[in-house]
Amino acid sequence: MKRNKKQLVLLLIKLFFFHSLCFSLDSDKGNAIHYKNPNLGEELSSYKKKVQQNLYKNSFVSVLKGIGFSELEAINAYISLASVYPLEILKDRGYLILPNNIDKKKIFAVNVNNNQSVILKKEKDKFVTYISSAELANELITSTNDLSISKKNIIKVDNNYEDYNKKIVIEESIFKQGENISQKLIDINVEKSKLQNVIKLIKEFIDPKKIKTGTIVKTFTDQGNLKAFYMPITKKKFLFIYNNKGFYNSKIVNFSGIKSNTSKILHENSNKITRINLFTNSNYQVFENFLNKGESIYELLQKYDIKNATINNIFNAVKPYYDLGQMRAGKKLEVILNYNQHLQGLSFKIDQVTKLQVILVDDIYKVYFYKEPYKIKKKLTEIIINSNFYNDSEIFNLPRSIFFELVKILSFSIDFQRDIKKGTTFLVLYEKFYDYEDNLIATGRILYSKVLLKSDLIEMYLFNKGGKEEYYDKDGKSIRKTLMKTPIDGARLSSGFGNRRHPVLGYNKMHKGIDFAAKKGTPIYAAGDGIIERANFYGGYGRYIRIRHNSQYKTVYAHLSKFAKKIKKNVKVKQGQVIGYVGTSGRSTGPHLHYEVLFNQTQINPNTLKMPEVEVLSKNELVEFNKKKTIISDILINIKN
Ligand SMILES: [Zn+2]
Repeated sequence: MKRNKKQLVLLLIKLFFFHSLCFSLDSDKGNAIHYKNPNLGEELSSYKKKVQQNLYKNSFVSVLKGIGFSELEAINAYISLASVYPLEILKDRGYLILPNNIDKKKIFAVNVNNNQSVILKKEKDKFVTYISSAELANELITSTNDLSISKKNIIKVDNNYEDYNKKIVIEESIFKQGENISQKLIDINVEKSKLQNVIKLIKEFIDPKKIKTGTIVKTFTDQGNLKAFYMPITKKKFLFIYNNKGFYNSKIVNFSGIKSNTSKILHENSNKITRINLFTNSNYQVFENFLNKGESIYELLQKYDIKNATINNIFNAVKPYYDLGQMRAGKKLEVILNYNQHLQGLSFKIDQVTKLQVILVDDIYKVYFYKEPYKIKKKLTEIIINSNFYNDSEIFNLPRSIFFELVKILSFSIDFQRDIKKGTTFLVLYEKFYDYEDNLIATGRILYSKVLLKSDLIEMYLFNKGGKEEYYDKDGKSIRKTLMKTPIDGARLSSGFGNRRHPVLGYNKMHKGIDFAAKKGTPIYAAGDGIIERANFYGGYGRYIRIRHNSQYKTVYAHLSKFAKKIKKNVKVKQGQVIGYVGTSGRSTGPHLHYEVLFNQTQINPNTLKMPEVEVLSKNELVEFNKKKTIISDILINIKN
């Protein structure tokens, strides 16, 4: 009986790897059964033209059915595997690792590139996926199915990425009294160049002037890019507008149409995601490059004897997601050649844990997003100031990325030049991301921080309010204030104490502003949202910017070396936007920013000013927030012990 089953499996695995291929049965390693084909690469070229996505699916499902899975189980296993690794890439090197009795365990693995395996384990109706080395997968499947052993170098990838805050954001925007369609479209992130096009699409179905005040527009945004939006035009009909690779299209849908179209948007990218690096394959040569200043991608790729036609194909494949022509100097770019010295693809980072990988599949370059799976570990770092924040945070091993983020979020509450003294203590709780081999790959979010100043204690907690993560103080008030206390890149400030070179003046009767000593060229931020009233040379102030925030508050920035691009009179600016750079223009003794806050036209001391919070949590949110605080304090106790 057992023997018959093995024969059956062999037959079906052949099917999976396209008929006439031969397979070797390898049972040397433990009791696992391996099926693989040593010369698949050559055989495949003749089949490439016939390949279709469904074939991969149907073949994989048949193989699993052949070894005892039900149809539903096989399909679920396929869905899980496809969410981790694209099957069309798997084809030329994958093989299965099966336990002796698949019926009992319902756990098996797919070795995708000789080095790494996807382990699929049935939990209820679904298959949960894990990634590990092929060796470990082999060991686990033959000896035990306990994947919870945390010492093992294994990572669970099921929806891991979605937990992180980079997914499609769904928001609502309401038509206010007197608001016209152009304003609303700009408000929801329609690019200016596409504005007329979108208005035309709307006019096909409804006169924009007849859209009622209070109408809700639902928007879907992917990292700042508008993917789609819809609004009701009658009781049961909706106007649905979506962005397809930079071009907008429209249609009228009913309620169930809304449901199916939005779920399509939410899952659109899922088939382009891989959780395993597509270029981890011994057949490929990976070359690391850093784009030189003034060098184009064409020039870089020509060094590898790659034809312009091929480069054009790559550009076109990547275009909907990334403009290769805009890649900045210094960016790391991996060029991957296959065994024939032909271009197999390119790979480069688009964020901390994501690489865009363009790879040749069936003679076409296709784009995938390699989202590196990671485990999150929480880390607590304490920094006691001895010389200055920058140096001391390095001494106490705070990762640089966390340091910069911390400075940014504390800039609302702290004057980085005057508040930080010898002995000031910082406590930071943050995330670190590790791959399945326990290598640190990136840092994550700051979850909590505490600053012990001489006369003040500042605490802030990360809290998710209606899908948006923000920092709140211990009373549930947003740390974001109308104006920033340090409107400059605080990480680059010269030491605040014991600094003899520049007088770092505080506010007094003679000096009606606050000075921040920093290197020439340090970016200066708009302290709050507002409109530029003045941006020109202004006597002793040198290069000067004044922003009007509301009817009462204005801020002033002086002695700049230059203004940022597009900064001039009547331009709108956002809080934290770079408006200029530190210099020593006008009457000044050395590079510094002179910063003034004007309240009803009179200079006031920004450091004694109690700024109103931008937002306060509601009663219900406070209940949730307090739960979060308890969780954090438990973590703090446990980490310390
Ligand atoms: Zn000054």
